[in-house]
Amino acid sequence: MEIFNNIQSARKHFRTLDGVSVGFIPTMGALHAGHLSLVRRAAAENDIVAASIFINPAQFNDANDFENYPRKFDTDISLLEAFEVDVLLTPEVEDMFPDKYNYQVSENKESKILEGLYRPRHFDGVLTVVLKLLNIVHPGKAYFGEKDWQQLKLIQGMAKALFLDTEIIACPTIREKDGLAMSSRNILLDKDELKRAAKFHQILSEKTTPEAKTTTLEKAGFKVDYIEEREGRILGAVRLGKVRLIDNEQIWENQKSNTNL
Ligand code: AMP
Repeated sequence: MEIFNNIQSARKHFRTLDGVSVGFIPTMGALHAGHLSLVRRAAAENDIVAASIFINPAQFNDANDFENYPRKFDTDISLLEAFEVDVLLTPEVEDMFPDKYNYQVSENKESKILEGLYRPRHFDGVLTVVLKLLNIVHPGKAYFGEKDWQQLKLIQGMAKALFLDTEIIACPTIREKDGLAMSSRNILLDKDELKRAAKFHQILSEKTTPEAKTTTLEKAGFKVDYIEEREGRILGAVRLGKVRLIDNEQIWENQKSNTNL
């Protein structure tokens, strides 16, 4: 696996790959089976697999969350090597924002609801960095998890709005056996919280109203940020101790909503 910390060297490298299809998986590291499912899919569909590890400060609206975000660089490298990733990009924060984050992608509608209400400017940070990464790698396809449904929809929206050449591929959520969606932040749950966390997906998937789910979740010890139904999908965010969990599940086939989510 070739590792590029330097953005200019990475750009040069990707420019030389003429006639080779590149599949790209952007991550923030602390890799788990969810990330690796994206890698596997990219490997099946492309000549070359590129991944990135970049803990993007612009998408954290809470300094503590950024500080405490799990960092597992050495294990990540071994995992990516074992999964035969060809190129890894690990840029530095100051190199990713030569403009000091003066230039940003901002979305003015669907980034303002759900997660956007609880994490102001979060999605602008995500979109800006994803666009930068796509401009460095120029992949034919980039892979994103349905676990972060709103993020996925916004990245697809950006690709369409800005005429990006990259196809955005949606990949299903990978879960623990008990239903808990895999997430880098799950490491931060203690043993008891980890056991209780499985209830989030169980309750989210019940055939009940969002209001009933909220009540049941609160009884089970979660603090509920939101539980909302959009486009036949139930989306939610809860807090368990210091850890915030998000998840979503399709509940019916046909679309019915006034947003694109
Ligand atoms: P992150 O490192 O959390 O920024 O995630 C990098 C990519 O992996 C994003 O596209 C996520 O949606 C995706 N991802 C994270 N967790 C999962 C999961 N449990 N199943 C599928 N994809 C995931």
